[in-house]
Amino acid sequence: MSKLRARDKWFFLTVGSRWDRSTVPIYEASAGGRCVPLLKTLLTSICTNDCRYCIFRVGRRCPREMWQPEELAGVTFKLWVEGRITGLFLSSSLFKDPDYTTERQLEVLKRLRDMGYTGYIHLKLMPGVSRHYIREAVELADRVGINMEAPNRDIFSEICPSKGGFEEAITKRLEWIVDEVRRAERLRRDSPVKFGFGRAGIDTQMIVGAVEDDDMEYLKASWWLYKRLGLRRVYYSGFEPIPETPLETRPPCPPYREYRLYQCSFLIRDYGFKLEELTQLLNDEGLLPNIDPKLLYAKRHPELFPIDLNDASYREMVKVPGIGPLTARRIINARRVSRIRYLSDLERIVGASLARAIAPYIDLKDKKLTYFSKNALV
Ligand code: SF4
Repeated sequence: MSKLRARDKWFFLTVGSRWDRSTVPIYEASAGGRCVPLLKTLLTSICTNDCRYCIFRVGRRCPREMWQPEELAGVTFKLWVEGRITGLFLSSSLFKDPDYTTERQLEVLKRLRDMGYTGYIHLKLMPGVSRHYIREAVELADRVGINMEAPNRDIFSEICPSKGGFEEAITKRLEWIVDEVRRAERLRRDSPVKFGFGRAGIDTQMIVGAVEDDDMEYLKASWWLYKRLGLRRVYYSGFEPIPETPLETRPPCPPYREYRLYQCSFLIRDYGFKLEELTQLLNDEGLLPNIDPKLLYAKRHPELFPIDLNDASYREMVKVPGIGPLTARRIINARRVSRIRYLSDLERIVGASLARAIAPYIDLKDKKLTYFSKNALV
């Protein structure tokens, strides 16, 4: 292959494609509180589907490229050995059919593992892929996912008309992945392996605002994904119109919408908020207002505050704006040693600025100092 051709391929399958808003081929992903450099690429941008929002939909004029499995495995391995990446994030357009594309993705992964690659692998599987490929994918990759694209069947069939049925192609496959990751967990217990085997869980992504929709649907879907399927991460991608697609004239999704959905999804995943506690925050159009949802919840529920940190439950504590899971655990540990009565007690545990921020919601003896007022909450 000529140098020019190789450079084009590199460009179009990583940076130039902007398939996942990446503006660099090696990007810093956050994993367990750490930043890890990943090579993020498509296996191919050749697609037989016609998703209405997508840059790579069949028939749209754009550069099309494809990695050969041995070529991508070689590039990844070299970058990993040089210490420039710690992992690979591999997705793909749909080339021929789901099994064919997945087979080629798995060939990349197998080659890498055979070469001695023990780095991180995040693999996006194709909707409609066969079960045995899912099992293989889970054993080879650290994280596996399938993009849902939409929160329900109606929106899915509207924006992805040729991807198959929502239940058959997407939700059933997500459930299969869950089963396979559970199986891999058992295998890991019996024979500890140091990479792969779905150790980093399952993820998915939904496009927000590509058609008329509301946040209720995304909250319900997120609830199901986190609480029923136990996904590690749900991503929201605000719709952006792309020229020469059927949705090119549709306005983009306002960035705050994506942000507020992320905040709510963390409240579901990490803070124990119930679905109905979040859906009650929706406005008349069924959208989350552009305000921190936890703050809004506190304002709507002045009857819940102030709380006594000495006997509040974990769930009551994490409802306080400013108290997250870590801070709540720190407070629980500290109150075992001595009671929290004054602002200075709280300052010693969480620091001065956080103590002052959460003080309006806390029952402290020196209320004057904490300028607590119920009116501040409504
Ligand atoms: S399957 Fe749909 S979303 Fe994926 S690349 Fe093809 S057209 Fe785009």
